Amino acid sequence: MIDLLLLGTGAMVPLPDRPLSSLIVRSGGSLALFDCGEGTQVQMRKFHWGFRRLDVICLTHLHADHVAGLPGLFHTVANAGRTEPMIIYGPSGAAAVVAGLRVIAAQLPYEIVVSELSDGDRFDFPNGLRGQVREADHHVTCLVYRIELDRAPAFDPRKAEALGIPRPQWSRLQRGEAVAVGDDMVRPVAVVGPPRKGLSFAFLTDSRANESLREFVNGVDLLVSEGTYALDDYEADPARHGHMTIRQACAQARAAGVDRLWLTHFSGRIDDPHRHQDDARTIFAATDIGEPGLSARLSFTNGYERLDRSG
Ligand SMILES: [Zn+2]
Ligand SMILES: [Zn+2]
Repeated sequence: MIDLLLLGTGAMVPLPDRPLSSLIVRSGGSLALFDCGEGTQVQMRKFHWGFRRLDVICLTHLHADHVAGLPGLFHTVANAGRTEPMIIYGPSGAAAVVAGLRVIAAQLPYEIVVSELSDGDRFDFPNGLRGQVREADHHVTCLVYRIELDRAPAFDPRKAEALGIPRPQWSRLQRGEAVAVGDDMVRPVAVVGPPRKGLSFAFLTDSRANESLREFVNGVDLLVSEGTYALDDYEADPARHGHMTIRQACAQARAAGVDRLWLTHFSGRIDDPHRHQDDARTIFAATDIGEPGLSARLSFTNGYERLDRSG
């Protein structure tokens, strides 16, 4: 299962009621943070998901509204008692930026390992989630993250018993290995069902909409996407700034066949993003206007469920 919590939804600068865009994800007791602008740790404290188990931080890009919260957060994670290494993923240049920010957070009781990713790279989280990145379409190198949790195929214990397979061998079959029973080899296909759809989400900010991204986020259970400018605010010139309007974000989500869309990274030009809720849903019905505290669980049994309230 994967729990997701939107910590903030702002772009460029934090506002009193709109902290900067950031997402925290919990799975198997391990936390991963997606972007860390100024003040992100304040939002983490507000929602009580803890600090010590923050194993991974994924940075989309190196603009201040996505990274300036790191040094303070490093100290807070240290104060929470972390001693295990923390991994930071980000685009080319992330190691230099993190090293620069660490000048003011030099003494930490845990190691920080920075891994720079480029288009198409895949990586594994310590809790079994799998990640992949695609280059976004912004003015600087920026990564879109697609994260998956695989679901093991169904195992049929009655068939395994009928074939006389000892119980200690069952997990090997579930992992796809053949096992010896007497003189025979039993292959997984004898006791394991067909592949089953896992869980997936994507974090997409900051970017223009494009075909490559539609293909990359295709079919995810939840897409967290920027919708920086108001529905039809083309005066803001989203293409020049490397962003999307809410209309473009919703159209992209629909074209990509995602199940659910959370919008985030709203410009200060939008007074109240919720005013766009109804119009956004006429473009893509399963759209939620993001707000701090919006949270949901993805599970194999129940799919998508809101954690903060029903909706
Ligand atoms: Zn931004
Ligand atoms: Zn940016």
